Amino acid sequence: MRRFFENLGNKIRTFMQGRYGVDELSYFLSTAGLILLLASCFIRPLAILYFPALAVLVWSWYRSFSKNIYKRQKERNKYLEIRRAIGKKVTLVRNMWRDRRTHRYYRCPNCRAFVRIPKPGKGRNIMITCHRCHHSFNRRT
Ligand SMILES: [Zn+2]
Repeated sequence: MRRFFENLGNKIRTFMQGRYGVDELSYFLSTAGLILLLASCFIRPLAILYFPALAVLVWSWYRSFSKNIYKRQKERNKYLEIRRAIGKKVTLVRNMWRDRRTHRYYRCPNCRAFVRIPKPGKGRNIMITCHRCHHSFNRRT
């Protein structure tokens, strides 16, 4: 019995040699696929979520067994980039909500960065200087 499992382990190791394996994107895909699969049990008609769920799971496995490591790494980088961008956006919205009584956020017309300033009185013209590119702009509050 032990011999059997050792052989199986060796076979799996040999099979996975030169293959990409698991990364953050495959974790995300398999989790999303399982959630969709679970949700498909409750939503009619079944096929609406069932086949997309299977497709996502197959995609996740396909990536893990792929031998095109360069391409999979590029996908992973893209995924991490998107995840970071979403995380930044969530943080910004959370901060805007937290500061809603004390601060206002303005977007710099030059570099699109957000500038946070203490909430001024209504109906005044204020000069704002961007912290990132030092561009100054006028805003009416
Ligand atoms: Zn700027």
